[in-house]
Amino acid sequence: MKRIVNFSAGPATLPLEVLQQVQAELLDWNGSGMSVMEMSHRDKEFMSIAQAAEQDLREVMNIPANYKVLFMQGGATAQFSLVPMNLLRGKTGADYIVTGDWGKKAAKVAAQLCTVNIAASSEADKFTGIPEPSSWKLDPNAAYVHITPNETIHGVEFHTEPDTLGVPLVADMSSNILSRPVDVSKYGLIYAGAQKNIGPSGVTIVIVREDLIGETLPKTPALFDYKQVADNDSMLNTPPCFAWYVAGLVFKWIKRQGGLAVIAERNRHKAALLYDYIDGEDFYTNPVRKVDRSRMNVPFTLANPELDGEFLKGAKAAGLSGLKGHRSVGGMRASIYNAMTIEGVQQLVDYMKEFVRTRG
Ligand SMILES: *Cc1c(COP(=O)(O)O)cnc(C)c1O
Repeated sequence: MKRIVNFSAGPATLPLEVLQQVQAELLDWNGSGMSVMEMSHRDKEFMSIAQAAEQDLREVMNIPANYKVLFMQGGATAQFSLVPMNLLRGKTGADYIVTGDWGKKAAKVAAQLCTVNIAASSEADKFTGIPEPSSWKLDPNAAYVHITPNETIHGVEFHTEPDTLGVPLVADMSSNILSRPVDVSKYGLIYAGAQKNIGPSGVTIVIVREDLIGETLPKTPALFDYKQVADNDSMLNTPPCFAWYVAGLVFKWIKRQGGLAVIAERNRHKAALLYDYIDGEDFYTNPVRKVDRSRMNVPFTLANPELDGEFLKGAKAAGLSGLKGHRSVGGMRASIYNAMTIEGVQQLVDYMKEFVRTRG
């Protein structure tokens, strides 16, 4: 078996140990005589899997008791609509801080349901940083303030929570959840599609403070109502059982690593390895303001874009894949989520050095 070093932005690489456990349990989960794929979600076997996953996530993220944890479907994209449906609570507008394409999309979708105030945007700077919080035009009557803590395409990350003056903070953490400890109590709601740092695509995690739910827009379907989902343990209908199970194995893997503090230190190390090399080599450029750089997604360009194709071809031959930048930005992007090893990042840096030596 030959595994590549996978820098894909998502679906992304998973811990090898987790994949091996999935493989070992695939035909017969824990003596049940069946695969998790074949179980009724109402059976005690799956119930135990589902509950353990929630418990482990609560433990790993230190989620306070007054927060609900939901396992939903539809990806982060569905949450772009569900957030205003559930959190407007009689208010008419919400604030959005736009630091990249995902936040921009979230704001656009929300605008179908409420008045969206773009309180700050770095689009004029081509999303190369986070606007100074003192310049934000927050509305004290907003139902919530939405941020994208890590912009997956542009490689821009919040490294602290902004002060929203008491208005609930909502975060699309799809691409940096579980990458470091966060103080969940600073958020009203956190959501994340699984396929970057949690597990396979198909399950979406929502962590929401319980006093914020139960007052949806009129005619909101039950499946989209956080309160009804919470009251039914995310099983109003058949949940994404297999993805939920694999996510649970990833939470246990994080615990075995020593928790989020250890993971965060490893991520810091990996990102530094790559950024330090890029900054010290004229041939490569990362355009993001240093203090706002992402530890998860590292976009970079080559001094000569005509060499992009050759760079990618050589990378592939060296066993490094998924490096092509997003079509809206061009160049390259290395996504270095939790499951990417330090050795994997070192292999990329070695390849980049060799490319400059022979082609630069
Ligand atoms: C990948 C991503 C999305 C889209 O997720 P889907 O699960 O495809 O809906 C949204 N926001 C961010 C920050 C992402 O990284």
